[in-house]
Amino acid sequence: MRFFYKLPVDLVVKNGKIVTTEGIYEAGIAVDDGKIVAIARDPNLPQADRVIDAKGLPVMPGAIDPHVHMGLYNPFGDDVPDTTMVQAIGGLTTTMHSILDKRSFKVTIPELTEIAEKSAYIDVTFYGIVMTMQHILELPAAFQLGVTSFKHFTNRPEYEMLGILHPDDGEFYLSFEKIKELGGVAMVHCEDFEIARKLTERLKASGRKDGAAWNDCRPDFCEQLKLWDMAVMAKITGCPLYVVHNSVATAKEVVDWAKANDVTMYIETTPTYLHFTKDSKLGILTKINPPVRTKGHAEGLWQGIKDGWVDCVGSDHCSVTKSRKVGQGDIWTAMLAFPSSELLFPFMVSEGYNKRGIPLERIAELTATKTAQIHGFPNKGAIRVGYDADLVILDPKKSVRIDEKVLHYSAIRDFSLFEGEVFTGFPIMTICRGTVVAQDGEIVGKRGYGKVIKRVPSTGPRKPTLSSLME
Ligand SMILES: [Zn+2]
Repeated sequence: MRFFYKLPVDLVVKNGKIVTTEGIYEAGIAVDDGKIVAIARDPNLPQADRVIDAKGLPVMPGAIDPHVHMGLYNPFGDDVPDTTMVQAIGGLTTTMHSILDKRSFKVTIPELTEIAEKSAYIDVTFYGIVMTMQHILELPAAFQLGVTSFKHFTNRPEYEMLGILHPDDGEFYLSFEKIKELGGVAMVHCEDFEIARKLTERLKASGRKDGAAWNDCRPDFCEQLKLWDMAVMAKITGCPLYVVHNSVATAKEVVDWAKANDVTMYIETTPTYLHFTKDSKLGILTKINPPVRTKGHAEGLWQGIKDGWVDCVGSDHCSVTKSRKVGQGDIWTAMLAFPSSELLFPFMVSEGYNKRGIPLERIAELTATKTAQIHGFPNKGAIRVGYDADLVILDPKKSVRIDEKVLHYSAIRDFSLFEGEVFTGFPIMTICRGTVVAQDGEIVGKRGYGKVIKRVPSTGPRKPTLSSLME
């Protein structure tokens, strides 16, 4: 690709170690008009209005969180600035928000776009949740509006109280068929609700109220069953399948089957499932669907990250205060989910890279590159000429004790499951489309700077070659 730019360019990031999925090399990055216009050894970089010295630290692609819920427990307009601010501090440059709304996509997508573009600190993109036949008929219209991946809840009709309608298997079929035709990705939340309902009744009757009861009433096999169902549905329809927030290591059996049967199947997991277990002393604070599991599952998921069958990490973030979260202090009245996106990237660096020796190249793939490819981000997720200049300068040795100051607590978000833990490795600067949005743990970007990104059909995993990067 030949790329023309004016001189001086807007920004040069020099003296960095550029992290790509296939290697790390010492170079600098020239940015103009929000795009990467050149990658070169420092002496060959063009003149710039602003020069940032990365001081020999890794420069990684800005992280993307593929799984964020805003507007669930607070108004969307309050969650967006609050969440995207701490996401920027945590090294994220794009967040994927789920449209949890039974109304027409033609109404919700423009409505959310307007609010997000007024209040987000980083870029935002949406994925739809297919709830109704109308949604299925509107899939082409949603594509036109830049939404190309769509979540399906298999744990119907459990979320009716949240206003989530539940398509049946026939509607799942039609939805997958249409998404395949359009070149999108079907996202699935895998949990068998019929078994969970029976076990919940039994456990409630037994008087259990502890945190571990959540796993015991909706055990791993509930998830495994639906993984198989959805993989078969993907085979029948040919639709690429993206499993959100997978908590079970046994997903590998399904992934192996998918591979042998030419089914495109991607697995997302979250720091929650990699780190916490049902016996955690945090108890009911860890309540989430699917539940946190056992050490065996967590270790199996880490192995999946090492072996490559786990494709992406997301957070399943939801802003809520601790007092609202705990309900009446028992597992049955506690609310689902918790704030988690702000530490998605630091967690992967601290726990994955520093503690478990997972290379930074792989961390970049899990937190940005593959996510962008799977979900059809046209120019994001990698440090390449022509791509958006979404960059994170990482201090891999910086030690940070997680507390309210680091996480900038607010009236709608005042706890983290990681509180008190020490992370090694933290972003020291986040750059979104060429603009510094966070520095040294503080927000420096502007509210409303973030743009809503329109996506295109998925390209699937592909690896940039070093020569293409240097073009
Ligand atoms: Zn879900």
